[in-house]
Amino acid sequence: SFHVQVYGCFVTDSTHAQVHFNEFGLPVATAFDDIYFTNEDGLAESHYVFLQHNGLPRRWQTHVHESFVIAESGFGTGLNFLAAWQLFLQHAPQDLTLHFISFEKYPLQRSDLARALEAFPQLAEQAAAFIEAYPAAEPGCHRRYFANGRIVLDLWLGDIHEQVPAWLPGATACVDAWFLDGFAPDKNPSMWQQSLFDAMARSGRADCSFATFTAAGFVRRGLQQAGFDVGKVKGFGRKREMLRGQLGSAVATTMAEASAGSRQTVTVVGAGIAAACTAFELQRAGFDVEVLSTGVADGASGNPQGAVYPLLHAERSPLAAFFTQAFGYATRFYAHQCPRNWFQTGVVQLAFNAAREQRYHKLSLPHSAGGPGYATATVQALTAEQTQQLWPALPPYPALHYPAGGWLRPAAVVEQLLSEITVREQSPLRSISRAAEAWQLAFADGTTRTSQRVVLACGAALTQLLAPFGVQLQNVRGQVTQVEATATSAKCPMVICYKGYFTPVDNGLHCVGATYDRGSEELNLRDTDQQENLANLCDNLAPAQWPQELEPVSDRAAIRNTTRDHLPMVGQLEPGLWVIGGLGSRGFTAAPLAANCLVAAMRGQPMPLAAELWQRLQPQRLVTG
Ligand code: SAM
Repeated sequence: SFHVQVYGCFVTDSTHAQVHFNEFGLPVATAFDDIYFTNEDGLAESHYVFLQHNGLPRRWQTHVHESFVIAESGFGTGLNFLAAWQLFLQHAPQDLTLHFISFEKYPLQRSDLARALEAFPQLAEQAAAFIEAYPAAEPGCHRRYFANGRIVLDLWLGDIHEQVPAWLPGATACVDAWFLDGFAPDKNPSMWQQSLFDAMARSGRADCSFATFTAAGFVRRGLQQAGFDVGKVKGFGRKREMLRGQLGSAVATTMAEASAGSRQTVTVVGAGIAAACTAFELQRAGFDVEVLSTGVADGASGNPQGAVYPLLHAERSPLAAFFTQAFGYATRFYAHQCPRNWFQTGVVQLAFNAAREQRYHKLSLPHSAGGPGYATATVQALTAEQTQQLWPALPPYPALHYPAGGWLRPAAVVEQLLSEITVREQSPLRSISRAAEAWQLAFADGTTRTSQRVVLACGAALTQLLAPFGVQLQNVRGQVTQVEATATSAKCPMVICYKGYFTPVDNGLHCVGATYDRGSEELNLRDTDQQENLANLCDNLAPAQWPQELEPVSDRAAIRNTTRDHLPMVGQLEPGLWVIGGLGSRGFTAAPLAANCLVAAMRGQPMPLAAELWQRLQPQRLVTG
């Protein structure tokens, strides 16, 4: 039903850097024969070249915006990032956040990264947190929060000449300081292009500064041509000169951006995972939030257990691009926000017939073999023997393994995300209409409420609520079955996916899901659905015997909200009216990043998603007639 195409910004496979360690124990990029930082004192160089010559920490004291935004070419070991993070926490005002955006074509392997950063015991605390959150080598943006949300990292993996154009439309006039790093221009000329200098200028706020370790003439001229005033100063250590400067008055826009702290109330309708993530991200961004709920997690987010793993294709489709990023974001999000209700057990997806085997094989091929080249941290192919090494009670089938995936307790997660947010009980929302400068919400019990900013995040109810706006959504009924654990099943160490899914034991029970019924919106339980869930488990896992011994104890039915292209629907439908929905069967994987994007768009802050991909999530694509 959805068309799979390959788009420029989704195809690049960001392969890991090849590095060796020199006699000082410091990393050297083998292909470029260049260092990541000086052998003398990398941290001192970072402070001198990039921080000091961008006017930091001084500029943080007088900054008028909510966050100070640094952008960097060439993330490398993250030394500049960690140094900026440390300096920021030492000197910046409490209410300011640091948003650090960096581009990297060849991310280091996690083990090389850890080894490289051992050279800086002063940064051990930051380094440990960062290494733990290090993303899979998937192209696109990986957003991570540190220091209780005061430090935000957007790491864009892929060639800077592909990633910057994907980033810039969501980040014009945002950047306060550029760290123009990279291997030396003579060793890596392709990075230092006019298009990059021009993009730096377009991304800059009025007083955007830059600093770079090089003093190469063509870099100086290129930056001048882009509109920067460029000056030469003494270089670090034995280096004679380096460049620094800021946007000239000709380019600098006199945008008087709405000043920080303009607190506005946002009304979020719904109390499932989409609403909870949206409310959480809004509050983190400084908005006042009220949630209108008919009951916390009373719809499709209320199943007893939920699996988290990405939806991938054998081609790098927009859907796969969204899900690789959303998956990486979601697993970190739950690990931090709801550690007691999130279980990173891994997810195994069984190739229980020949067609699946072929599909999964294609999906696991590296780029060099014509495949999509997913990172091994995202997904790995297993042989039948490897599958059984994971757990001997699995049937001997090849499989896909998502080592970072797992399961969670949906209602507990939703409750925890909403724990510091005002939640008002409301009867169901029946309609929404314009009322002067605001939106009027009319509820089933006859009451109404107006709000200037509304986010509709109410799952299956969206289908009817948005029909008057021409938005077409589909509801799909699903029934899950809980079964009592046996001695064998209780040892199941990970989520098992086949035609359905089976979750590890929780309080003596497993969850077996789920039916997918497009025709119906009834919530009454059906024996036939229970039989279907159990039959899929037994048939797909045959010859394993243990599934046949499982006794059902209860069922639950709920209605999912879906879109025809399977991408979530996220964005502003009309001024002041925002929507997040269509999350289908992958709500717990998609919601955290989708909500983060929605809030970034609402604030006009840098978007953690390629512009083209963000366009594809917009509700307007679903408007017909
Ligand atoms: N700022 C880094 C740090 O703090 O460790 C050091 C950066 S290192 C000198 C240069 C980095 O630029 C390398 O990691 C390299 O892989 C990256 N790079 C080189 N060419 C690139 C390109 N075309 N796009 C994105 N990154 C590139």
